[in-house]
Amino acid sequence: MEMEPARREEEIVYVCARCGRELTPRDLALLHGVRCVYCGGRILYKTRSPRVKEVKAI
Ligand SMILES: [Zn+2]
Repeated sequence: MEMEPARREEEIVYVCARCGRELTPRDLALLHGVRCVYCGGRILYKTRSPRVKEVKAI
């Protein structure tokens, strides 16, 4: 079994389906809910940060 590296919340970002901006969990925490801080959209896609390390499949 391989152990997955510790995941940080900062690695997870939300993308607004309305304006397409990226939101961090911190941004959402400020609003106390899932809502875009820019346009107020409530539809957010949960995704990972673009900063992904390249991993070669063995
Ligand atoms: Zn938005």
